Amino acid sequence: MEEIQRESMEYDVIIVGAGPSGLSAAIKLKQMAVENQSEISICIVEKGSEVGAHILSGNVIDPKALNELIPDWKEKGAPLKTEVNKDSVRYLLSESLTIPAPLMIVPTFKNHGNYIISLGNLCRWLAEYAESLEIDIFAGFPASEIIYENDRVIGVITGDMGIDSEGEKKPGYEPGVELRAKFTVLAEGCRGHLGKEIINKYNLDEGKDPQHYGIGFKEVWDLKPELHEEGLVIHTLGWPSKGTVSGSYFYHGENNQAYIGYVVPLDYENPHLSPYDEFQQWKHQSSISKYLKEGKRVSYGARALIKGGLQSRPKMNFPGGLLIGDNAGTLNFPRIKGTHTAMKSGMIAAETIFSSIQSSKTDLEEYEEKFTSSWVNSELYKARNWNPFLHKFGPYLGVLLAGIDQFIFRGKLPFTLRAPEPDHACLKEANKMSKISYPKPDGIISFDKLSSVFLSNTNHAEDQPCHLILKDESIPYH
Ligand SMILES: Cc1cc2nc3c(=O)[nH]c(=O)nc-3n(C[C@H](O)[C@H](O)[C@H](O)COP(=O)(O)OP(=O)(O)OC[C@H]3O[C@@H](n4cnc5c(N)ncnc54)[C@H](O)[C@@H]3O)c2cc1C
Repeated sequence: MEEIQRESMEYDVIIVGAGPSGLSAAIKLKQMAVENQSEISICIVEKGSEVGAHILSGNVIDPKALNELIPDWKEKGAPLKTEVNKDSVRYLLSESLTIPAPLMIVPTFKNHGNYIISLGNLCRWLAEYAESLEIDIFAGFPASEIIYENDRVIGVITGDMGIDSEGEKKPGYEPGVELRAKFTVLAEGCRGHLGKEIINKYNLDEGKDPQHYGIGFKEVWDLKPELHEEGLVIHTLGWPSKGTVSGSYFYHGENNQAYIGYVVPLDYENPHLSPYDEFQQWKHQSSISKYLKEGKRVSYGARALIKGGLQSRPKMNFPGGLLIGDNAGTLNFPRIKGTHTAMKSGMIAAETIFSSIQSSKTDLEEYEEKFTSSWVNSELYKARNWNPFLHKFGPYLGVLLAGIDQFIFRGKLPFTLRAPEPDHACLKEANKMSKISYPKPDGIISFDKLSSVFLSNTNHAEDQPCHLILKDESIPYH
């Protein structure tokens, strides 16, 4: 086989992914180096064409980690402008019937002190801040392979450019670059492909529950100013979900924009269920459609959400590096918030790496101890029974029990439930399940998949290699 000649660059630390966790790790590490008058070279590679390009926009952020990382973020102009001023939690009984859930019984959904933001804008702002600290950020460069030496990770190789769908070189072919480092941090987000490889190679998930996922859809809408209530956060459960504990959110952000979305857990049984169509149908619920009717959809995106919680969190350190943020599953599922926990996991990574570099240690074993004694672990500990309750007991009993756990016991029940069945094992064969028919999109509030993908800001070359590979072609035909 032809040996590829690659350019090689060396850093102290390489971070894969410029999301909240990767950027926070880089910033914290550089801050510590400056405080201690030492030099640390850091590089972040980001597969999106620019930082924020692959981040789904609308978000309610708990600013706890940002307050610790950059305490004067307000003065420095961070894009957190809209403080939440009203929470509303609703159970949707049907397309027209809604029951409000009084907020005193659902403190988990209280968002006072949090901000409605564009997460893409926050990442762009953090990236500028990182660059001002002389951190190198290479956007448009996916890390595609890990470099190992004596069973230790010593860096990554970025993807080769100019390869066609058959794997052949095209005229503009450019080999990927080798980035070598003392420590490599994988901050790829939910189910990152290098993260998956590392978890398997070093058995980081030994003794843990399998990871659990949801699929989340988001749209950004321009609302008619009279219908916009800046600072209002709405969460719903119920209609039109079919046998799943799907939920939605509707955040009224700045500039008359609303960030709306819908999450379907992937442990559903009926293969005829279409999470995309459920989301489109949900927008027709009368308490939602009243805002959208005269508005305009400006963007669309979909993304996996990691929700197994503490019981599924793999060991986060491995020889030569760390897994952080959603790549390790640090999201708090009952709060549907993973930004502040991902950021904090990155900051703890920075402290661990700094301490190892200072004492010329080659391992990062301290990470686990630092993580488990941090507020992220305490927060995730209180949230730990939410996913197993919903997974085991479903949309009615499960919601009731999870509610009792969170709202009465505040996550302090004296036991920890497990969810050892992977999501895919819940799916039944299509010919044994009833068909579901969804209403046709009306082109005003609801849309077909092609027009949605058109608004998703994704561009692919016609003949690029396919990165989704069906492992067993017979399964979809059952
Ligand atoms: C539908 C939905 C709604 C959500 N709502 C909220 C909310 O309201 N509030 C909240 O706090 N959290 C919310 N979250 C969760 C939150 O978005 C995540 O927890 C958070 O973004 C995790 O940060 P991260 O840095 O770990 O990963 P990500 O934000 O996923 O960032 C990973 C980055 O790595 C890049 N990358 C991946 N692989 C590679 C590679 N191989 N090479 C180079 N770059 C790579 C990606 O392009 C991306 O920029 C939501 C999630 C979803 C799916």
